[in-house]
Amino acid sequence: MNDCVFCKIVAGEIPSTKVYEDDEILIFKDIAPLAKIHLLCVPKEHFAYLSELDPARAALLGRTLEKIGKLQGELGLGGGYRLVVNQGEHAGQTVRHLHIHILGGEDLPWEK
Ligand code: AMP
Ligand code: ZN
Repeated sequence: MNDCVFCKIVAGEIPSTKVYEDDEILIFKDIAPLAKIHLLCVPKEHFAYLSELDPARAALLGRTLEKIGKLQGELGLGGGYRLVVNQGEHAGQTVRHLHIHILGGEDLPWEK
């Protein structure tokens, strides 16, 4: 996607602090962290919404969650973590490329 900031990060056209990468996902540090550890996990393929899932993307998302679980210790999230996926306007989604916020490194407040 031409104008997508996360596609540009995936392509290396915008710098990011990468913490994990394989052929289908990238995990990097959020530029404006809301917790001691705040990472973003993106599929390399561009799509914005869960409503765009097809069986292949659903399987990719499953592998992505499995990967996050396996990386828990390596990412410094041994004490636990929270995943957040903002979808659309009411959720305040600002980047229209599906991403999973990974928050942790401290006790997290529960806010609406
Ligand atoms: P959302 O509000 O769910 O769309 O989240 C978008 C997130 O992307 C925000 O937490 C931003 O801080 C983060 N973000 C935007 N641009 C960048 C960037 N260039 N590098 C890292 N994180 C970014
Ligand atoms: Zn994109």
